[in-house]
Amino acid sequence: MADLKVVIAGAGGRMGAANIRAVAALSGLAVHGAVAGSGLSLHAAVDRPGTPAIGQDAGLFAGIGVLGVTITDNLDAALADADAVIDFTAPAASVALAQKAAKLGLIHVIGTTGCSEGDDVAIAEAGKAGATIVKSGNFSMGVNVLASLVKQAAAVLAQYDIEILEMHHAKKVDAPSGTALLLGHAAAEGREISLASHSVRVRDGHTGPREEGTIGFATLRGGTVVGDHSVIFAGPSERIELNHRAEDRAIFAHGAARATLWARDQKPGLYSMADVLGL
Ligand code: NAD
Repeated sequence: MADLKVVIAGAGGRMGAANIRAVAALSGLAVHGAVAGSGLSLHAAVDRPGTPAIGQDAGLFAGIGVLGVTITDNLDAALADADAVIDFTAPAASVALAQKAAKLGLIHVIGTTGCSEGDDVAIAEAGKAGATIVKSGNFSMGVNVLASLVKQAAAVLAQYDIEILEMHHAKKVDAPSGTALLLGHAAAEGREISLASHSVRVRDGHTGPREEGTIGFATLRGGTVVGDHSVIFAGPSERIELNHRAEDRAIFAHGAARATLWARDQKPGLYSMADVLGL
């Protein structure tokens, strides 16, 4: 089977560089200078006009040596003849890309967080219109296993208060993180409630006592933290804490590459990382 030809969107970003490294490693490009046939090959790398990475070799930008793929701001040219896009950009860009992926019948792996409900509806529509989409607030294996443990604990510890704490680097622009929301949804699923009507995103001033059955969020920002998450189940005289610490963005990039390979055998539609991992 031929390698899937992959476009990295947001190539000039932190995750873009990690995604270039992950795809290049899978195709053997970084090591052998030629496609080895193991599943993915770097077809193009794209970012928005004006980004400093435009015009640079993707491999040099990602710190793995020349790959012969220049980072471009011409999205349509990048998508021509591609099979898949790995997209860690911004909500508006991911919605527009999902619509293009539907028209072109592409695999679209979306790691972008901070999407509004409207963005998520538009992305789901693209899944019905011909794109094979895998979207997740976190592509690491560890967090997806954690989510399944959280769902289980939330169901069994039905009376315990649930609080979700996250910390990320100072440059992160959305809050709570996509991962915190993913964990919140898992807890809500375990309780068979909707997260939207039970989440408490901010506490400030005279809040009164904690409302029973809610799921609280707290956000910390600073330094270069890749991503720390804790889900706390607080009950009478005891507390259970489930934690995940991301140490390198490679865990997300490898998950996204794995999702791309998995999507090759799926019908168009909208899938999650839990589908990819069979959780
Ligand atoms: P970043 O700011 O370093 O990179 C984002 C890149 O996207 C930038 O280079 C920017 O120029 C580019 N971009 C924005 N709009 C674009 C457009 N219209 N077309 C092409 N490129 C565009 O951010 P980052 O740390 O790499 O994170 C990117 C996104 O991925 C964020 O939403 C972040 O929360 C998310 N993220 C998700 C996971 C996950 O596992 N799902 C993990 C880490 C980060």
